[in-house]
Amino acid sequence: MSVHPALCRGPYGGEGDRADGTHCSDPAVFEIARYARPPLRVCPVHLGPALLMASGVLWPPEITLIGRL
Ligand SMILES: [Zn+2]
Repeated sequence: MSVHPALCRGPYGGEGDRADGTHCSDPAVFEIARYARPPLRVCPVHLGPALLMASGVLWPPEITLIGRL
């Protein structure tokens, strides 16, 4: 069973006009729930920064493990 790995969208959750801030191309390992936005998938390196800098992150954060560490 193989799952197509989602790519990290961190640390800013780049989408639309903010997509330029997304440079990471590592596989996403965590999914961060956000308010009124699609969940943000990030690699381990960008988990911390994304919690602090991405828009719409819930607090306390809701983080789901979606990949392998
Ligand atoms: Zn990343």
